Amino acid sequence: MALLIDRIGELVTNEPGCCARGHLTTLKDAAVVTEADKIVWVGRSADAPAADHRLDADGRAVLPGFVDSHSHLVFAGDRASEFAARMAGEPYTGGGIRTTVAATRAATDDQLREAAGRLRAEALRQGTTTIEIKSGYGLSVADEARSLRIARELSEETTFLGAHVVPAEYASRVDDYVSLVCGPMLHAATPYARWIDVFCETGAFDADHARAILTVGKAAGLGVRVHANQLGPGPGVQLAVELDAASADHCTHLTDADVEALAGMWTVATLLPGAEFSTRSPYPDARRLLDAGATVALATDCNPGSSYTSSMPFCIALAVREMRMTPAEAVWAATAGGARALRRDDIGVIAPGKRADLIVLDAPSYLHLAYRPGVPLISDVVHNGVKL
Ligand SMILES: [Zn+2]
Repeated sequence: MALLIDRIGELVTNEPGCCARGHLTTLKDAAVVTEADKIVWVGRSADAPAADHRLDADGRAVLPGFVDSHSHLVFAGDRASEFAARMAGEPYTGGGIRTTVAATRAATDDQLREAAGRLRAEALRQGTTTIEIKSGYGLSVADEARSLRIARELSEETTFLGAHVVPAEYASRVDDYVSLVCGPMLHAATPYARWIDVFCETGAFDADHARAILTVGKAAGLGVRVHANQLGPGPGVQLAVELDAASADHCTHLTDADVEALAGMWTVATLLPGAEFSTRSPYPDARRLLDAGATVALATDCNPGSSYTSSMPFCIALAVREMRMTPAEAVWAATAGGARALRRDDIGVIAPGKRADLIVLDAPSYLHLAYRPGVPLISDVVHNGVKL
């Protein structure tokens, strides 16, 4: 079944070859045709071929669907009271993760599936057509495997994060927990995971433990991602580059050497401004990364503790207002940048042969995503060629 979207006022194509530094490639008075789950034609509206179905964009903007390359959707319970305490002045330490671990372990499969599915649907309505989902609130062999099994029902981009924190029952036996993660837990997780990730941070996993876990994960065929340099300076970014990770995520506290290590590398710097917003922390220095030549992605970090938002438009607005990214850089980072962070070239762009994931804005330009913060501007979503 072919779908024609025509009379597009501004089409953001992110065409390959366009600069990774955020100069968006756009077409005026454009049209797109999709067939099954692929884009098959892009060009001037006046030249568009007919199709079975038509969506008249009526001068509105069309973009690639958002690629949210970092989320933690499989969990039970919420931590609204922890958020309230933090807003009243308590610092964020990451310790609340264990609260969610207890709630997640106590939940049934159906409860987890329903909660994660609701968040996935919420993100899709807001234009997120690809979402990476991590485990990390099970922290036992069985609970990590079931979190990933449920995540896999919702996304092909699933990440094993058994090394999120050391669970309470292993508090004095970190080495034993790392052995568990590297052995039986990895074995149980691998059938449902594409990636492996470690929270490399003081209070979570140090460089040696993180390297050990990521190295065995890589040997098992998983791609590498790292939670790096979120709460303070540390070895995460350097480790990510050393292991050819697809992405170093957070990058809030970087030394000059860290920025240099990321410049011009395949490892994407994924910035998660929802976390700084929700923990009232200083934002990462996106300008410094971009000016050094690093590839920057934006993602939500959607999780119940430090960033309970599924909204990529919100992250774009934060990136522009608080991180001095231009609107073009932020929109690129939320689409093509996210695709890079997942090492995908079939998403985050609008071109023949790419996946038919598109969003129609209720606005004439992508600029409005940052210009009109908090406004629900996503008027139509086409996911895998199907209009929602
Ligand atoms: Zn995270």
